Amino acid sequence: MQRVYLEMDKKYYNMKIIRNNIIPFKGYKAMNLFGVLFVRGNARIDDITLNHEKIHTAQIKEMLYVFFYLWYVIEWFIRLPFGNAYRNISFEREAYANQDDLNYLENRKRFDFVKYIKK
Ligand SMILES: [Zn+2]
Repeated sequence: MQRVYLEMDKKYYNMKIIRNNIIPFKGYKAMNLFGVLFVRGNARIDDITLNHEKIHTAQIKEMLYVFFYLWYVIEWFIRLPFGNAYRNISFEREAYANQDDLNYLENRKRFDFVKYIKK
């Protein structure tokens, strides 16, 4: 049996997706936990969302998993008084800025999220 993959899947494969009604909280569609995508109910996951989450997987791996979540929470707290903390976290900035480019992960360099800390 032959499977057809997106170009970037050669490098990043398909994500494991777990649909459930608990993670993430109401109001959110999907959450990447250690490279596994938790999707709420039957929320639609398109290529762009998937690309966004795969960018997070790249960040998660290069931050050795635990440091990704530590950094994420710390940066969220730091940015809390200055507008939309979630959208301004460097990991999210990188993911949102490049999610439309389905070849982004092919060209991305390690730790590229650092470029988005000051933007
Ligand atoms: Zn995100």
